[in-house]
Amino acid sequence: MERYDVAIVGAGPAGSTAAYRLARARARVLLIDKARFPRDKPCGGGLTTRAVRQLPFSVEPVVEDRITRTRCRLRYGPKIERQSPRVLCLMTQRRRLDSFLVEQAVAAGAEFRDGVHVTIDSESELRVDGEPVEVGALIGADGANGITARTLGLGGAIVNGVALEGNLPYEELPPDAWHGLLVLELGVVPGGYGWIFPKGEHVNVGVGGWAHQGPQLRRHLRTLCEHYGIDSRQLSDLRGHRLPMRRPGTVLARGRALVIGDAAGAIDPVSGDGIYEAFVTARLAAEQTLALLEGAAETLEPYEAAVRRELDPLASAGWSAKVALDRYPRAVFAVMRLPITWRVIEKLLLGEVSHPGETRGASRRAMQLIETLARLARRPRAAVA
Ligand SMILES: Cc1cc2nc3c(=O)[nH]c(=O)nc-3n(C[C@H](O)[C@H](O)[C@H](O)COP(=O)(O)OP(=O)(O)OC[C@H]3O[C@@H](n4cnc5c(N)ncnc54)[C@H](O)[C@@H]3O)c2cc1C
Repeated sequence: MERYDVAIVGAGPAGSTAAYRLARARARVLLIDKARFPRDKPCGGGLTTRAVRQLPFSVEPVVEDRITRTRCRLRYGPKIERQSPRVLCLMTQRRRLDSFLVEQAVAAGAEFRDGVHVTIDSESELRVDGEPVEVGALIGADGANGITARTLGLGGAIVNGVALEGNLPYEELPPDAWHGLLVLELGVVPGGYGWIFPKGEHVNVGVGGWAHQGPQLRRHLRTLCEHYGIDSRQLSDLRGHRLPMRRPGTVLARGRALVIGDAAGAIDPVSGDGIYEAFVTARLAAEQTLALLEGAAETLEPYEAAVRRELDPLASAGWSAKVALDRYPRAVFAVMRLPITWRVIEKLLLGEVSHPGETRGASRRAMQLIETLARLARRPRAAVA
């Protein structure tokens, strides 16, 4: 029977960066994916500077645009325009990013098998195309629809959002109007928003929100397109996917198995971003897995507390902002207009603060306003603002 120190199921941003870190530390790593690479994944492909800072290598070869301008509107009405002296977000395409990340993992020493069928028998035994493999640890990085969490009784208290996106080539649009610009349209989808992200040869247009919005997403996307002079019939690669968000009680590790990224429900509730969280959970998982393999830990279970420590403050602020925005969109938008609020958003995107609670002075007070709105919104029959 083949034997590896670690098997990682799923080679998205979470799986391949975990594989990279473990292989660099000289673990024998098997990285496996059911899809044949290069493969795409429904995603806006926005890589915040905060996310990029998590990586131990540059992603320069797959960067298609750099965001320094932000246009944020409320329900196709009032808008906030901000110019930043620094790059807040890189734009890439997942087909390119994910292949690049896998290449880094392989260069670091991980063995990669794609287009395979994976069956999980236990935390120490799986089958790859029917062939048994024995492992010292198992990492589930198989995303929103994966098998690892389900098979091993991990996850659990995850709620799902849903998003739909498509691409429009620049032949249909003036590219100069879009390069370097991130457009967010707030309040147009319950529990979410619409976006337009610039890429090298096209814009990516999408909408996301609460799971029950699924049947309405095509209509929301059409409306977004109409408002921006985009013919929605011209959109290509139209795809939807789940946005898994963990709630208290989500189990992230048991024995010698753990889950990372979307498989752990690590998506940020308010932005719908998950690549930063995929990189963070991969780093924490790699650290705990090495401790297990080196005999410094008996299980992978301490990983769950490490994730909570690092991501819960941000996720909790995200839930508050999401609830407040849903219930009091105009009031939240008014707070967002304050220059002080923009500075907090900028610092969050840049990774200069890890969560809003780290801000001080006037910035902190602006964040407290949003928390107060969230508290009001959570009360039964909240008063209308
Ligand atoms: C429409 C949309 C737009 C988004 N836009 C952004 C954005 O702009 N920025 C951002 O930060 N986040 C965004 N997100 C979230 C982001 O896409 C995810 O958080 C991210 O992909 C999570 O990475 P992951 O590695 O955990 O999982 P994934 O990227 O989903 O990778 C999982 C991998 O596991 C493989 N797999 C699944 N099942 C199996 C199996 N049974 N056996 C073997 N392999 C398996 C899959 O083939 C896949 O390669 C968006 C999400 C959606 C839906």
